[in-house]
Amino acid sequence: MRGTAVVVGGGVGGLATALGLRRIGWETTVVERAATPADAGAGISLHANGLRALDALGVGAAVRAAARPQYTGGTRTPAGGRLARMDGAARARTGHTDRRHPAGGTAPRAARGTATAVPARGRPGDRGGPLDAGPGRVTVTMGTAQLAADLVVAADGVGSRLRGQVFPDHPGPVYSGSTVLRAITAHPVRLSSDFELTWGPGAEFGHIAFADGRAEWHAVLDSPTGVRHSDPLGVLRRRFGDWHDPIPALLAATGPEAVLHHDIHELETPLPSFAAGRIAFLGDAAHAMTPHLGQGACQALEDAATLAAAVADAPTVEAAPARYDAERRPRAQPVARAARQAGRMGRQLSHPVAVAVRNAALRLAPSRATVRAVLRHADWTAPNLG
Ligand SMILES: Cc1cc2nc3c(=O)[nH]c(=O)nc-3n(C[C@H](O)[C@H](O)[C@H](O)COP(=O)(O)OP(=O)(O)OC[C@H]3O[C@@H](n4cnc5c(N)ncnc54)[C@H](O)[C@@H]3O)c2cc1C
Repeated sequence: MRGTAVVVGGGVGGLATALGLRRIGWETTVVERAATPADAGAGISLHANGLRALDALGVGAAVRAAARPQYTGGTRTPAGGRLARMDGAARARTGHTDRRHPAGGTAPRAARGTATAVPARGRPGDRGGPLDAGPGRVTVTMGTAQLAADLVVAADGVGSRLRGQVFPDHPGPVYSGSTVLRAITAHPVRLSSDFELTWGPGAEFGHIAFADGRAEWHAVLDSPTGVRHSDPLGVLRRRFGDWHDPIPALLAATGPEAVLHHDIHELETPLPSFAAGRIAFLGDAAHAMTPHLGQGACQALEDAATLAAAVADAPTVEAAPARYDAERRPRAQPVARAARQAGRMGRQLSHPVAVAVRNAALRLAPSRATVRAVLRHADWTAPNLG
């Protein structure tokens, strides 16, 4: 079956979808409203499931070439005490691993598949607007222009307008209570592990290392939504300056212009369906989750590969979104729930007694069990898109 698709949103999920649909012979147009990605200048961790999805979409090798595999790391207390190890050896024992990249990898987002890497038509500045799903075709309106297609993919992110239009009774995204400041260092920093998370009361600091020796760090803080700082690095130095090495060094290696600041919103109320007739919802538009498991983009990549497979295999276009929904909703929504729980276990604990109990439990748990708890979400088999 061949046809035409309009993908609304040129983020990770939308671009991956364009790759998948093109791979099965569909003519695909990506509609993107922003001239540059909102998260350019940040890094991304991809677990083995995300890499497998990229393999199915035909770009796994290119992403691996830009990424650094993550083998060594774990969680610490602000004083540097070890809470849990999550290194490559432990991961290899879980049995959920990709042999070449047990823990997935990390790449700067600027190196992700941008419109130039996607052989579909990208249209910076366009806005995918209201939908009209008449018999046989769906029409997306952008200002005065209209695009008609056999299939529309809503990949327009956590604030999805299309979701609001198709599911007007859904409450939409809620603020998670966490705000994230992050940056890539200006130059390489000496690090003793590929990645690390440090949990203090009501705050988390983490880093992931890149192939060129630089690192991305992130700081998660409890904060009301919308709070912005004129000197974010100054705020972070005051908050994290006495935390263990290499945290002060990572902050010192960062230019003020590099700091990105995002409030974290999620779909706490699960969407009743990822499909509505010839419309499929995908990525954050379908299941926006907190970043505590590093699975948001990985799930969007799984969505993209699965949708392409459903479109290729379904007897009719109308049957494809429903088939995609049946496969993806039972998979992605529990991951979103687990991400929320992981956030509560981590830095969102602020009471000293709760923190002490959590730390004691983590120290007692075998590394294998901790690793298995994180990596079980990476246990996914990609469809074959040919
Ligand atoms: C701090 C932080 C760290 C994260 N770290 C990781 C990680 O390490 N690993 C991981 O797997 N995930 C991570 N995530 C999650 C990941 O970034 C998201 O899940 C992922 O970006 C979702 O991709 P998407 O394509 O669905 O949405 P988005 O990336 O939000 O893309 C949506 C796109 O749609 C466009 N758009 C919106 N409305 C319209 C419209 N009406 N018309 C046209 N275009 C429109 C937007 O401009 C945007 O480009 C992290 C998230 C955050 C906030």
